Amino acid sequence: MTTAKSVFSRRALLLSTAAFAGTALFAAPRRSLAADTIKPDAKSALIVVDVQNCFVDGGTLPVKGGADVVPVINRLAGSFANIVITQDWHTPGHASFASAHAGKKPFETAEMPYGTQVLWPDHCVQGTDDAALNKDLKLPTAELIIRKGFHKDVDSYSAFEEADRKTETGLAGYLKERGIDTVFVTGLATDFCVAWTALDARKRGFTTYVIEDATRAIDLNGSLAAAWKQMADAGVKRIKSGDILGG
Ligand SMILES: [Zn+2]
Repeated sequence: MTTAKSVFSRRALLLSTAAFAGTALFAAPRRSLAADTIKPDAKSALIVVDVQNCFVDGGTLPVKGGADVVPVINRLAGSFANIVITQDWHTPGHASFASAHAGKKPFETAEMPYGTQVLWPDHCVQGTDDAALNKDLKLPTAELIIRKGFHKDVDSYSAFEEADRKTETGLAGYLKERGIDTVFVTGLATDFCVAWTALDARKRGFTTYVIEDATRAIDLNGSLAAAWKQMADAGVKRIKSGDILGG
């Protein structure tokens, strides 16, 4: 929320920008000028990607600052009627683990039938404490937990589609059958599972936001900047939790 003064100046700025660009100012119904915030509606879903023990400090593949997303996501949850959680859920000896490839170390790559795969430490093995959702994540109203990466020979960063780019997880069907057309993506990590999820959401026609301060990145060899560029090119909207009403 903003003060009256800043609302006024933002409105003036938007009006002049719209006039200059010749665009329809009121084309985006969900961005309320008066409140200067985005209000998620019944057709919106919050997607919480992989906020699991494995990806925070003490886990097998910790993302720097990973646990910091938890209070932000807990707070955002109150603004959403629909919440979907994902869990990275690998078999023991999964093909994305460096340990499954002779002579390879974590963070090196391997050529797989579906392309180049970054190799990770063993992480998020099905049924382990490491793969459990972070205990501080409080999402009692979440309606779906979708697990991914459970086919032994194929990784799945995306919540929509496995890394072979063919096998659907079923999430797009679930969202569409429920009339959801807009997704807000949060979680871990920005430059892998969050970015792939957001890009695949765009490919399937969803209006897609990534809430930046509700994500943290691994940033391997410039992967974070590359991911933001790809997302921008695909029309993913980059926002902060404060841009959401109640967030
Ligand atoms: Zn994984």
